[in-house]
Amino acid sequence: MKPEIAVIGGGYAGIACAVALARSEKVRVTVFESGRVLGGRARVVARPDTPLDNGQHLLIGAYTHTLGLLRSVGVSPGVFESLPMTLAYPDGFCLRAARLPAPLHLAIGILRARGMSWADRRAAARLIRYLKQRNWTLTPDRPVANLLLDAGQTPTMRSRIWEPLCVAALNTPVREASAQVFANVLRDSLAAGASASELLIPRVDLSELLPVPATRWLGRRGHTIRTSDPIKGIRHEDGAFWLDGGPTWAGYNQVVVATAPYHANALLEGFAPLAPLVRQLASLAYQPTITVYLKYEQAPPMPYPMMGLVGGPAQWLFDRHQAGGPPGLVAAVISGGGEHEALSHAELELAVQRQLEGAFGKMPPVEWIQTIAEKRATFACTPGLARPDNRSAVEGLWLAGDYTRGPYPATIEGAVRSGQAAARGVLETLG
Ligand SMILES: Cc1cc2nc3c(=O)[nH]c(=O)nc-3n(C[C@H](O)[C@H](O)[C@H](O)COP(=O)(O)OP(=O)(O)OC[C@H]3O[C@@H](n4cnc5c(N)ncnc54)[C@H](O)[C@@H]3O)c2cc1C
Repeated sequence: MKPEIAVIGGGYAGIACAVALARSEKVRVTVFESGRVLGGRARVVARPDTPLDNGQHLLIGAYTHTLGLLRSVGVSPGVFESLPMTLAYPDGFCLRAARLPAPLHLAIGILRARGMSWADRRAAARLIRYLKQRNWTLTPDRPVANLLLDAGQTPTMRSRIWEPLCVAALNTPVREASAQVFANVLRDSLAAGASASELLIPRVDLSELLPVPATRWLGRRGHTIRTSDPIKGIRHEDGAFWLDGGPTWAGYNQVVVATAPYHANALLEGFAPLAPLVRQLASLAYQPTITVYLKYEQAPPMPYPMMGLVGGPAQWLFDRHQAGGPPGLVAAVISGGGEHEALSHAELELAVQRQLEGAFGKMPPVEWIQTIAEKRATFACTPGLARPDNRSAVEGLWLAGDYTRGPYPATIEGAVRSGQAAARGVLETLG
């Protein structure tokens, strides 16, 4: 009999963990997901005519573990609209990486950029040099805003490049965000090579991207995925973990808790050795992400599928039509907290519409608007934040999720890496 492993949570971390365990062919896996669909914070939210995600997501070429996982469950690269790293604004400002090997892709991109003065170009080079000289390690860690001051960034570089990149990647405003984690992201994307900095916009909804093909792949190999099956408790008795889920308690050799940190504590609290971990998770702070989907009668004049916006509240605008969606559907993204949190959805939608008219001129009539606010979209990625390991103080009980220790902020890639690391831990203990 193969050891039975339970994975609690069918987000990207749980799925990555289940696939890695299944690939070993040494264990039998059961994934429990409380929601009706898999995907967690990266999932489709039903709308009768147009499938919308719980928030617009962007992946990049540096997501090597995620891209490898997609390949391994048979997903074709055509699921992404991919374009060279492009930071373009409606007023003509545009920094676009050249299709050349690193570091030329960025150097030529900066030389050719529209809207950047020579002082801005020198500042961009200065920040990369500053980080390289320190081997991409910032001791002590500090807010990104301080890093930008230390490395002498111009107002244009701050407002058009670094601040929007920081809030997009870390979902945390520059005055609170960790410069070390931001440096890790820059090292592995902008500075790593042309393909690492490519922007990948999913052409399918986020449940179709990984959860659906992964479920098929796991099912074909005899593993089980149980949706609408929340686990209410875990007990450790007679050398097995007993899960309170579905109609009965069932026993497993090992358990991976792959929920968001704010759901993990309810499952971990009963274990005395985990008291410090429970306190650590309880102390995490969160940042919101709001996506305002607007369906216009015709496509707005967007030369690129993703463009930057200034003046708030939205920082980025995605043309869903250029990524496989219906004509006229755009997603305006507001990452991180700020003054916009005081607005009602109706006020926010009006503010976004005004912002888009200010940026693109008169827009076509709006058919419908839907706003999806995720209040705890990600943990606040602050300087020096201590994040827990995959291995817990209870043998056989593991953690997986975007919040566990790793170089990246809360991202799909962070979640996938964490799930795979937890699977490695399980398999190592089995020898
Ligand atoms: C609006 C928004 C926009 C984002 N944009 C980006 C982006 O552009 N790029 C990017 O890389 N990342 C982005 N992220 C972050 C990314 O979505 C997350 O980092 C990632 O999805 C987290 O995956 P996870 O598996 O760690 O956790 P989750 O997705 O939270 O998965 C945990 C799962 O556990 C389930 N669960 C909880 N409790 C139980 C229980 N008791 N029993 C059974 N199941 C349970 C939940 O239902 C959930 O499905 C965004 C997030 C949001 C919310």
